[in-house]
Amino acid sequence: VSERNSAYLRAVLGSIPPYKPGRSVAGPGGRSVKLSSNESPYGPLPSVLDAVAAAATELNRYPDSGAAELTAALADRFRVPADHVAVGAGSVGILQQLLEATAEPGAEVAYAWRSFEAYPLLAELSGATSVTAPLADETHDLDALAAAITDRTRLVFVCNPNNPTGTVVHEAELTAFLDRVPDHVLVVLDEAYREYVRDPAVPDGVDLYRDRPNVAVLRTFSKAYGLAALRVGFLIGHPHVATAVRKTMVPFAVNHVAQAAALASLDAEAELLERVAATVAERDRVRDALLADGWTVPPTEANFVWLRLGPDTLDFAGSCEAAGVAVRPFAGEGLRVSIGTPEDNDAFLAVARAYPERNG
Ligand code: PMP
Repeated sequence: VSERNSAYLRAVLGSIPPYKPGRSVAGPGGRSVKLSSNESPYGPLPSVLDAVAAAATELNRYPDSGAAELTAALADRFRVPADHVAVGAGSVGILQQLLEATAEPGAEVAYAWRSFEAYPLLAELSGATSVTAPLADETHDLDALAAAITDRTRLVFVCNPNNPTGTVVHEAELTAFLDRVPDHVLVVLDEAYREYVRDPAVPDGVDLYRDRPNVAVLRTFSKAYGLAALRVGFLIGHPHVATAVRKTMVPFAVNHVAQAAALASLDAEAELLERVAATVAERDRVRDALLADGWTVPPTEANFVWLRLGPDTLDFAGSCEAAGVAVRPFAGEGLRVSIGTPEDNDAFLAVARAYPERNG
């Protein structure tokens, strides 16, 4: 097909690769351990499955586009007014809506790098320009991020804990940063992994946004709540931000089954948080085992660990995949490994133990 036939496509699409989701692989005996997408390793609770089955009897009807019941339940859960909440098709869907709402061509979006891969992708798609600030020791350098803000900046993403490194920023440095950000910039605190945090110095974004009109918090049902397949995320921010997110949503983007499952998950929060606690215990076990074997693994507050492997990254990822363990390599930099069940993690640790080229 000649170039002429795609003359109607925006030129920017030529330079943007499609988002690459975490892979699954099959190892010896068909073994497949998926540690490549930071998912919960646990299937849905019976109460959530019941809610899904009940909601599925109404598939002929459009969902409630405004997700009123879920919005009210989230407002109640986080003790915020309902007009401070906007629900979307995954937090990545809301990220795209935020770009649509803020970033005209020529606008800049600032974030640390390396961080969540959707940031550059969605920024470029929107026509905005990405401006990145390097991580320092795999951790957000908020001075560098503040220095990346210009008159053209409209959005700043702060991923806390950071994907893929698992590192965090603490309350004192984050509030000092927020106090420096000018009013023409919206700061989005991406807290997709917030439920896994145990470090008491890490702030809850919901406490920080209240006095700051240009700060909003992004959360998801995909990780701790185990609903990645259903695509439900939400924003908590001031009404002008939440309204902008509602206006930019594709009508009916969050389907009826997803809304029902999210509501049932909020009802089952205590049970789900026990699973999170098990994942946190496993995270600490995995990191300790890797450290004891001489690997370099920064402290992590998320449901994954980051192995700084530099040039050995793809080689080690190949060893994992050959054993049926799918991980997420970033060539030349390092490897992100999600925390799974104890058996999943043991499968990964066995590969790590057998690997000769540890980067200590
Ligand atoms: N933010 C971060 C930091 C993530 O890692 C992810 C998922 N990988 C998302 C947002 C998007 O999650 P979802 O769209 O499933 O809510």
